[in-house]
Amino acid sequence: MEALIFDIKRFAIHDGPGVRTTVFMKGCPLSCLWCHNPESQNSDIEVYESNKPLGNQSFIKKQQIGNLVTLDKLIADIERDRIYYEESGGGITFSGGEPLQQIDFIEQALKRCKEIDLHTTVDTSGHIPFSFFERVLPYTDLFLFDIKHMNSTSHKEYTGVDNNLILDNIRRLAEQDCEIWIRIPSVPDCNATEQNLEALCNFISDIQTKAITRIYLLPYHKLSSHKYDNLNMTEKLAHISEPTTEQMEEWQKIFRPLNIKTYIKG
Ligand code: SF4
Repeated sequence: MEALIFDIKRFAIHDGPGVRTTVFMKGCPLSCLWCHNPESQNSDIEVYESNKPLGNQSFIKKQQIGNLVTLDKLIADIERDRIYYEESGGGITFSGGEPLQQIDFIEQALKRCKEIDLHTTVDTSGHIPFSFFERVLPYTDLFLFDIKHMNSTSHKEYTGVDNNLILDNIRRLAEQDCEIWIRIPSVPDCNATEQNLEALCNFISDIQTKAITRIYLLPYHKLSSHKYDNLNMTEKLAHISEPTTEQMEEWQKIFRPLNIKTYIKG
């Protein structure tokens, strides 16, 4: 059994509790304009060529994006850092892309992680059949669930898909015996508007669940701009500025009525 991944990040501290290994799976049903991992979107192995200067000449550099990895190899890699997980209360996070798109592999990988007593987290766009959540629920300690825009037309404009399936899935997932942290990419002039964040706050309030234990506002940043150049993709939000600390703190206040801890992720 193999999965297509494009990166493994050890000692990650922003993808769930404690110190974690984050596995980035390739392929995503969305194409968010602000995506910080544009190399994750395509479900195939890709090879990119770029011209690199060397003295007064140049050479072509080839870079492969995506590798096939077996379940046994991945579990062996993950286990190397067990001591750090145990010391910090960390574990393994499957991210992407959309990790649940490779559901057969993910189901088995999560099952193996639980068999060896590792904390498991799935970072999802939510745009997958609910039956995929049902398959991984028994082996997933925490879901990081992205909600991007409450207006379906705007959602489609910014991500390529409407929000119906995503909102249905979060409602249904929140009824299950699980823990969910909501993550909201906060992009000025796109989804980080007072109107949208208030609508999002009302939506979470209406769900009335104990499953949602945290909310994270993720500030839009420009650190991935070079990736668009490398991939010959157009960065459509190149004109958008990063939000200021003051803006982030104002948006954070919108969620106060929920009584759910709301964090700004640095
Ligand atoms: S859901 Fe995440 S990985 Fe997929 S396109 Fe959007 S930002 Fe990128």
